[in-house]
Amino acid sequence: MWWAEVLYPSLLICVSFGALLLVAVGSSYVWLVWLGKRATKCPECGKSGAGELVESTVTDLRARTEWRTRIGLFRQDVSPTQVLEETCEDHFKCCHCGHEWTKTTQWTRRPPERKQASPEEKKARVFPARR
Ligand SMILES: [Zn+2]
Repeated sequence: MWWAEVLYPSLLICVSFGALLLVAVGSSYVWLVWLGKRATKCPECGKSGAGELVESTVTDLRARTEWRTRIGLFRQDVSPTQVLEETCEDHFKCCHCGHEWTKTTQWTRRPPERKQASPEEKKARVFPARR
């Protein structure tokens, strides 16, 4: 039958892509678990994944202005963006030996990229509709 000649190869391709996808998802999961265990490794006894987060405090919070440049087809837009820089102190305790330690991490938070306003939206902003 003609459809079997088309169906079986396409089924084979689908199954191999599915297997590839499963391997990719599985290996990223294992990698993330490994990263988490490495991040909470006790510096005293060396047990990975033994550190439990006891407390997390924000020690520094700064806001600064960053200038974003968007290069369009005919013009270039430069717009200010508020960026928050947060410094956290995480206190860990080893559930294996009881050792306590502190880790300092820094986060930078940027607001999500806004989509470019369409000419109609810009016009509506400048000339609001009368009621
Ligand atoms: Zn320990």
